[in-house]
Amino acid sequence: MIATSSSPPQSATRLSIDLGAVVHNGRVAQRAAGGAAVWPVVKADGYGLGAVPIAQALANAGVAEGFCVALPEEAALLRQGGITHPLVLLSGVPTGWEERAAALNVQPFLFSMDEAHRLNAAAPPGVPFPVHLKVDTGMARLGFPVDEAVEILRTLEALPGLRVVGLVSHLACADERHNPVTAQQARRFQELRSHPEIARRGLRASLANSAGLLGHPQTRFDWVRPGILLYGASPFFPLSDWRREGLAPVVHWHSQVVQVRTLEAGTPMGYGHTWRAVKPCQIAQIRVGYGDGYSRRLSNRGEVLIRGCRVPVIGRVCMDLIAVDVTPLSQQVQPGDPVTLLGQDGEAFIGIEEMAHWMETIPYEVICRHAPRAERRYPRVIHPASSPGME
Ligand SMILES: *Cc1c(COP(=O)(O)O)cnc(C)c1O
Repeated sequence: MIATSSSPPQSATRLSIDLGAVVHNGRVAQRAAGGAAVWPVVKADGYGLGAVPIAQALANAGVAEGFCVALPEEAALLRQGGITHPLVLLSGVPTGWEERAAALNVQPFLFSMDEAHRLNAAAPPGVPFPVHLKVDTGMARLGFPVDEAVEILRTLEALPGLRVVGLVSHLACADERHNPVTAQQARRFQELRSHPEIARRGLRASLANSAGLLGHPQTRFDWVRPGILLYGASPFFPLSDWRREGLAPVVHWHSQVVQVRTLEAGTPMGYGHTWRAVKPCQIAQIRVGYGDGYSRRLSNRGEVLIRGCRVPVIGRVCMDLIAVDVTPLSQQVQPGDPVTLLGQDGEAFIGIEEMAHWMETIPYEVICRHAPRAERRYPRVIHPASSPGME
């Protein structure tokens, strides 16, 4: 039978995204930016957490001058969500998307003559594309070579369908606080920007991502592009901690105990029998798996919180289930008990950085991988750190 209740119970596995904490982190960015404008990065659907509600919260709080996304599809999502701010396309305009991009009123990063000619041809008469000239100061990914930038700018000015409004570059090593490459990139960028041919055009300059903004003040220039810090994770490596940066945790991920059973000593468990009970054990199965974005790399490595205590993930992570060893817990664990995968339970806390460490990756991948199956909720305040008292 199909349930007809108008409000279904909340999903067993769900992400709560604290928009109050996002705004708190946006203000941390604003303060760190000094006079530079903040353009929050909400690509990859807001790092997996929902670009539209996050952009709306930041827009309403007056934190954002504009927003950055990677792709025109992502810009379209923001426009559908009612975001009227200027939008930049960090990865330029893909072939075939030129007219659509013009209709979305976006400002692409421009890093090839191919893109320049495509955009020039697609711009409606009298409405040139505002573009940001992207230069390579040391990342060696996208961007015109720094020493060709002036000449390229002159060439671009002959194209009536383009209007160069900005000068941008990207940092390669800013996540390492003491890496000298960042200062070198900032110096190259500054030299180019103060070249008379560039300076007289008054292009607005942008270099900093989160790590540049928080760790390298000389990278701030006219506008900054923070991403990861907004989502409550430190951009620094070796893996640091959001507390150190004054950030508030944004992501809270919960699931539920499905079943609890006792295994006798010697019983092997799960796919591949990668775990075996060395003594009689109480094992709880939890309703989450790699189908929800809980990485298989957490097999025999991760931890979760139940009743305010840390318990280890044992055996392989499955598509829909994980197992944890609850033997040490003094209280009996019951089916339906809440389980915290990320966030706070009593005194205990699991952060994005810690999960990244278990997965041998960076915090970005931990949150970007959230599969659409997980229900997302957007309560305004979860953590006291996001209250105005912290401001
Ligand atoms: C993703 C991205 C950013 C944001 O980086 P964070 O490290 O998340 O702050 C900034 N600029 C460019 C070009 C990017 O691709």
